[in-house]
Amino acid sequence: MNLPPTDPVTLIASLVVLFSIAAVVWLMIAGGLRESPWACASLAGANAALGASFLVHEALGLVSSTHAWWSDLLSLLAFGLVRLAVPLIGERPAPWRSVFVAVVVVGVVISTLTGGPESLPHKLLLYGGMGALALLSALDAWRLMRARGLNARAALVLASPLVIVGLLLLARPAEALLAPGRTDDIDAANAFNIAWLWASLVLALLINGWIAFLLLMKLVLEIRRLTERDPLTDALNRRALSEAVDLEHSRQMRGLGYALVLLDMDRFKQLNDTLGHAAGDAALKALVAVVRPCLREVDQLARLGGEEFCVLLPHTGIAGAALVAERMRALLAAHPFAWEGQAWGLTASFGIAESASVDDSAAEVLKRADQALYRAKAQGRNVVQAVELEPATRP
Ligand code: GH3
Ligand code: MG
Ligand code: MG
Repeated sequence: MNLPPTDPVTLIASLVVLFSIAAVVWLMIAGGLRESPWACASLAGANAALGASFLVHEALGLVSSTHAWWSDLLSLLAFGLVRLAVPLIGERPAPWRSVFVAVVVVGVVISTLTGGPESLPHKLLLYGGMGALALLSALDAWRLMRARGLNARAALVLASPLVIVGLLLLARPAEALLAPGRTDDIDAANAFNIAWLWASLVLALLINGWIAFLLLMKLVLEIRRLTERDPLTDALNRRALSEAVDLEHSRQMRGLGYALVLLDMDRFKQLNDTLGHAAGDAALKALVAVVRPCLREVDQLARLGGEEFCVLLPHTGIAGAALVAERMRALLAAHPFAWEGQAWGLTASFGIAESASVDDSAAEVLKRADQALYRAKAQGRNVVQAVELEPATRP
């Protein structure tokens, strides 16, 4: 049986190979995938810098035997680039100024140290700096996932590979502090170094795979969003609403009713003809912005097409729906809409209906809401109308 390599030189050489391959792969992803190209480029840079930093390590014998301080600078730079990549994946601004200052200051201070890579100040500064950057990246990743709606525990699990890397880096100065007699550089063949280098190898693979997975997840979520949303207003599209309403209808069979609010902008064609199509688009966006705050988190707003929208109100009867619709109507009528200096009064007509135990499908509820909307238009627009049910058929 072949035993895994236990000499530091083989392990350091393996790390160089691994980081080089990862750098090329990230570079290819950055060039080929238009998704987060700067994040991928940062990751390519981070892998390349780490590979280069191990490559110039004196243990491999490729450079003169004195420890090169720029090898330290390269490894610091690598974690600085990881720190930039995490917010870039989440399309947030990267803290490049503070990272640049931190890398340069720590790098310059390290270059003035004379004790060599084995000395405690060197280990504290270099690995402390890298560990701090990794932990800050983990914190960023955690915050990003919280902002995307993940709960605290799930966000922590997803951010944990970076936490482990941070702790692994801090383990070196911690070891030097706890065992002051044993202050070897990574090429010394002791048990701690072998375990540390193996952990680095596994984590390098894990972190790269993990970030690729996160990018893939992000793409999948974006594609899902594109298939569910109307690009102009960001409201759900007809298909997504239909799915949500059908699901709510199946729940209704268990005794939980729902209501639908249909709304159609009044004299929208006139607005388009007078102010232009772009003004019409802006009015549609304004309508969504006005209406959204009237809704609960469980309610769903969808654009059915043109200037017609539908709101699904789960666990709501006709009285609740009338209240919501009336609030939306009044807010929209009071909304000051103007296009290129010209004021225009936006109003909409509303038709509401509640589900009933006799309804075979959601289409019947929608049909009643449509009848109510027709009635609202006939009554002169800018009103809420309902199609009431016989009390016996109420859920
Ligand atoms: P009513 O008060 O009876 O609802 O009259 P209306 O003018 O609002 O209704 P009508 O159905 O006659 O006109 C709807 C117009 O909506 C016609 C079409 O040009 C316009 N429209 C449909 N989709 C869009 C869109 O995405 N953007 C813009 N700007 N206009 C759209
Ligand atoms: Mg209309
Ligand atoms: Mg219409």
